[in-house]
Amino acid sequence: MPNFNATSFLEKLGLRATRPRQAIARILFADGHNRHVTAEWLAEEVSQQGEPVALATIYNTLHSLADAGALRMVRGTGQDNIVFDTYTQPHHHFLDEKTGELTDIPDGALSIDALPAAPEGRTIAGYDIVIRLR
Ligand SMILES: [Zn+2]
Repeated sequence: MPNFNATSFLEKLGLRATRPRQAIARILFADGHNRHVTAEWLAEEVSQQGEPVALATIYNTLHSLADAGALRMVRGTGQDNIVFDTYTQPHHHFLDEKTGELTDIPDGALSIDALPAAPEGRTIAGYDIVIRLR
C-alpha cells in the first residue's frame, strides 16, 4: 500500500484522524503486511519516528482500532499482556513462551472435531487456539 492515507483510513473507521493516531495507523497498516504488536512495542516505534505519544494514548488508539474492527486482540504471555493483530480473520497462533512472539498458524493447518456445548443461554461466538512453544 504505497499510497496509504492514514487520515482517510481512520475516517473510514469512524475515528478522528489525530496526529498520534495517524502515526500509529501508518506503522500498523501502511505496508499492508500483517503483524502482531504490543502497546509497548508500538510506543517505542512511534517515539523513534520523532513523535513520542503517551502509552495511555497508544492503548486507547489500539482499543479504538480493535472496536472498529481493524485489529483483533489476542492474549499473549503474562497476566495482562494483550497482543494486537492486524490480521482480523479468525485464525490460530503459535506462542513462543520465552519471547512472547506470536506466529500465525496457516489456515486449514489445525482442525477441531468437536466443541463443548456453550453454557446455558450462551452461544459460541468463535474460538482461537494458542499453541505454546518453548
Ligand atoms: Zn495472528
